[in-house]
Amino acid sequence: MFTFVTQFYIALKFNTRYLAPDHILTALKSLTIDPNFSLDVLGKSVEGRPIYGLKFGSGSKRILLWSQMHGNETTTTKALLHYLRRLVNSDKGTQLAKHLQLFIIPMLNPDGASAYTRLNANEVDLNRDAQDLSQPESLIFREVFNTFKPGLCLNLHGQRSIYGLTGSENPAVLSFLAPAANAERSITPARLEAMRLINCITKALQEDIGQQIGRYDDTFNGNCLGDYCTQQGIPTILFEAGQFGQDYSRNNTAALIEKAYAVLFDQLCQHEMAVEKDTIVASYLDLPENQVNYCDLILKNVLPRAINDTKDLFIQYRELLVEGRIYFEAEVLDEDSLEPEFAHRYENDTELNSELKRLNQEDWPPFIADYVLKKYSH
Ligand SMILES: [Zn+2]
Repeated sequence: MFTFVTQFYIALKFNTRYLAPDHILTALKSLTIDPNFSLDVLGKSVEGRPIYGLKFGSGSKRILLWSQMHGNETTTTKALLHYLRRLVNSDKGTQLAKHLQLFIIPMLNPDGASAYTRLNANEVDLNRDAQDLSQPESLIFREVFNTFKPGLCLNLHGQRSIYGLTGSENPAVLSFLAPAANAERSITPARLEAMRLINCITKALQEDIGQQIGRYDDTFNGNCLGDYCTQQGIPTILFEAGQFGQDYSRNNTAALIEKAYAVLFDQLCQHEMAVEKDTIVASYLDLPENQVNYCDLILKNVLPRAINDTKDLFIQYRELLVEGRIYFEAEVLDEDSLEPEFAHRYENDTELNSELKRLNQEDWPPFIADYVLKKYSH
């Protein structure tokens, strides 16, 4: 038992955003020491990697969860494995297993996870393939959806550090969405139930991070998996794990997501309180909408054009997989791109300005690009 626990934590103690198929397999196997868990192979990805299905519990509420359909969105998977570990041979686990039945696809896109890409090995976005079913991963999902017949779906994702919230300077540390079921974005019963559950989650999380939780764009697209599930009448919640300060490993965000799972599953075990439809919708719409207005770093008052004409430089990290860890490569946003309003970090780099003063102005752009790359990548 001790060996299993130790192995689990070694397997999950990442200081990197990278979470590959091998990493999760150790963690998944370690859960099955508890008879409430069982692990199966559902099928294979484009490159022949196994896609795992993990089942938990035998209750009447059936919940289907899938993570890493975008291979480079690892935070919700990490949080899920941490959360599930807490249920192993515990009173909480026994209690939840009586009420709930979870079907978990922890890594729907193992090829993308291995290569740290959003897309699958055929360069298809699986979240635009729900109706087309052009990919083996999409067919596996559809088969599970049809046979398991969930009463609730959790669509688990991670979002880029470019998102802030409308009406404030806050970043979107987490975002949620009750996806639309049709182009009119009407409040169907399934959508209303997703909104009600999102309200429970966000109320609990606001105790930790205040008004840093957003509402994702609800434009309908039937080829998006969450929209498809809602259209079939199944309440679906989109989770988006975002950037929180300088925590680029996103372990703090993972802890928040873990709490979100705990709140949600506890809620599902309780007797439902009747709440007015209008109250649910109003409370949900109270969450500020996500907005693209953030970047990773703003260097204040740099001299990119001329002396006495200083300008802020906007820097965004590119995430690259290098020898099993993620390297954040600092890139200056080009002059034509939309200027972000806020950043996760601000610097006044006097060293850069003194270097620039020594150079001819035509040499500034390549110098700045190289300087930023060397100094701010990590
Ligand atoms: Zn995603």
